[in-house]
Amino acid sequence: MRAVVLDEQGEPRLGEVPVPPGPTLTVLACGLCGSDVEKVGRAPAGTVLGHEVVARRSAGERVALIHHRPCGACARCAAGHETTCESFTAPTIVPGGFAEEVAETDGVVLPDGIDDALGTYLEPLACVVRGAERVPRGRVLVVGQGFVGRLFAAVLRERGDDVYATDVRPERAGRAPDGPVDAAVLCAPAAPLDAVSPGGTVLVFSPAAPVDLDDVYRRELTLTGSRSATPRHMEAALELLPRLHLPAPTVLPLARFSDGLALYRNGQALKVVFTP
Ligand SMILES: [Zn+2]
Ligand SMILES: [Zn+2]
Repeated sequence: MRAVVLDEQGEPRLGEVPVPPGPTLTVLACGLCGSDVEKVGRAPAGTVLGHEVVARRSAGERVALIHHRPCGACARCAAGHETTCESFTAPTIVPGGFAEEVAETDGVVLPDGIDDALGTYLEPLACVVRGAERVPRGRVLVVGQGFVGRLFAAVLRERGDDVYATDVRPERAGRAPDGPVDAAVLCAPAAPLDAVSPGGTVLVFSPAAPVDLDDVYRRELTLTGSRSATPRHMEAALELLPRLHLPAPTVLPLARFSDGLALYRNGQALKVVFTP
């Protein structure tokens, strides 16, 4: 089957890989995530990226795939840190979503109202829904207005927060905060702790910039992190998705992977979705 495979330099190339053994799902669409882009040039040769996948079961049902699974029984799972569970590291999407087929795996069934490309938003939205559980309600600053920052702002607005948004690209920034905020969500490597009120919360939701821990001490800030999603959050995201106003995807065939990667990197596309 065709798949986008990383070569010896870690660069993506459209090539042929074996169909995974056993029952498979037909991939309909797969979103390009910032975490995929980070792996380009770094992950080992032969890697097939892609974890924001909508696929079709042989019975015809369309599903948004669950890309990792916590055990649900260990102390970390019980503490709500499911994505640090030892079982969570095993990938469930084999070989990866930028391929024509993947090995049979679990997913959330998509209703007809959510098309294939929009269905790929469920995984990143699930990550955001989980992260938002750690953000107190009130005045919230979202730092970074790439796709994930936009998702975060939409989720917070939907639950009734007063949302502010900044970005290094002025054309992407939203409403700047007019005073101290109760919480900041870092979706970009910046840490404007001084924007947060004493006693406030900072959620680290992307690879991060250095922070001044002395500030955390003196102003009693709560610094917390959240990464990835759980099956429960995929279900919550499915329920929420139709109510959100989100940027439209740029949809390209898998053969144009390099073009899509360039559009993402130069900021011309907030979200690129590939269809085999
Ligand atoms: Zn992702
Ligand atoms: Zn566990």
